[in-house]
Amino acid sequence: MFDKILIANRGEIALRVIRACREMGIRSVAVHSTADSDAMHVRMADESVCIGPAAGTDSYLSIPAIVSACDITGAQAIHPGYGFLSENARFVQIVEDHGLTFIGPSAEHIRIMGDKITAKDTMKALGVPCVPGSDGGVPTVEEALKVGAEIGYPVIVKATAGGGGRGMKVAASEAEMKTAFQTARSEAKAAFGNDEVYIEKYLTTPRHIEIQVFGDGKGNAVHLGERDCSLQRRHQKVFEEAPGPCITPAERAKIGETCAKAVANINYIGAGTIEFLYENGEFYFIEMNTRLQVEHPVTEGIFGVDLVREQIRVAAGLPMSFTQDDLTINGHSIEVRINAEKLPNFSPCPGKITQFHAPGGLGVRMDSALYDGYSIPPYYDSLIGKLIVHGRDRPEALARLHRALGELIIDGIDTTVPLFHQLLAEPDIQTGDYSIHWLEKWLEKTYA
Ligand code: ADP
Repeated sequence: MFDKILIANRGEIALRVIRACREMGIRSVAVHSTADSDAMHVRMADESVCIGPAAGTDSYLSIPAIVSACDITGAQAIHPGYGFLSENARFVQIVEDHGLTFIGPSAEHIRIMGDKITAKDTMKALGVPCVPGSDGGVPTVEEALKVGAEIGYPVIVKATAGGGGRGMKVAASEAEMKTAFQTARSEAKAAFGNDEVYIEKYLTTPRHIEIQVFGDGKGNAVHLGERDCSLQRRHQKVFEEAPGPCITPAERAKIGETCAKAVANINYIGAGTIEFLYENGEFYFIEMNTRLQVEHPVTEGIFGVDLVREQIRVAAGLPMSFTQDDLTINGHSIEVRINAEKLPNFSPCPGKITQFHAPGGLGVRMDSALYDGYSIPPYYDSLIGKLIVHGRDRPEALARLHRALGELIIDGIDTTVPLFHQLLAEPDIQTGDYSIHWLEKWLEKTYA
């Protein structure tokens, strides 16, 4: 096992990894920018190293600075958290070339899944159901029109290098194809430096269902059921739950086994998420994330496992501590993402926290790096906390979330907490009846 792990991240996810390290008797190294000298992850880690100025590109994304910090502190492994360098194949390669261990999948798997066409082809070959669409990249409008006629409208044109919901355009009919194709291509070129696009059937009212998988890198893998992350704003998740309110045990077993088998087949190591759109009882693969997800705590809640501990174990060459048969679902878990944003426009709202009080009690988990007097810097993601609840069933989890939100105090800045108070009063949220478009429509209606 490692003696010391460096965490190449900040905020709540850095704390999350430090906590796992501490429980495992592993020393932790925090890295930070000059803007984060007072951050909680720096205070909580056993050691810390300043790796550069405020801008992420000069600090948390600086590969030489991070590798040097390992050298200085003697850390043997790097946990990347999510975001930043977590899905950067070049980083993984460099880390390994320096004789360090990357706590996550291989550079090759990250590369395959980072290119959406290659990812889709790979998943298709592994027996994972995909959205009907073009065979690979579509180079011309003529070709795009041909694909549209074949699969039927509406269709969505997507960038193969895409991420964060960019480089995607819907064409409702043949008349809209030319514009959709050209806009998606130029957006993709501008955002990712790669204008290759492909085409998929556009599903009109799907849910976003993602399967958590975990592999040991030696041909063994398990699945930990699904998370429903359909409540999204601009393709960003805001409310996640497990199990999915509309997924039956038989559906879960079937898609879960398919996913576990697929990743076992490629000797995948560590945590991964296979994302699907789900409509009329069918699953359609959209992408795979080769890292720990923001919303992993809801899975931990219902299975009672520590996914970060497990990531560290397999990276150290140990077997997973559970088998598929050990994994049984207990109750229901919900997470809400608390952002430093001002409603109704969700404009970023960094600033000084004058008072912070985290909720507690049975079934409540607050993952946050806030503290009284902390100043949230303006340079990074606006996620400042995740409130996660667990109950014996969905109604109990909802009641607990309502209760916990009432206890939470974050003074000094605006946050997205009022949004969740409002959402919990909605009948569709209470019954779990929502698709990926529900929240946008509700926001339009409510905040217009
Ligand atoms: P990104 O990597 O940019 O997040 P994804 O492929 O994961 O892109 O898609 C992001 C979101 O876009 C999905 O959660 C869904 O809301 C929408 N989307 C993507 N593909 C389709 C599709 N074929 N039909 C309907 N919506 C889609």
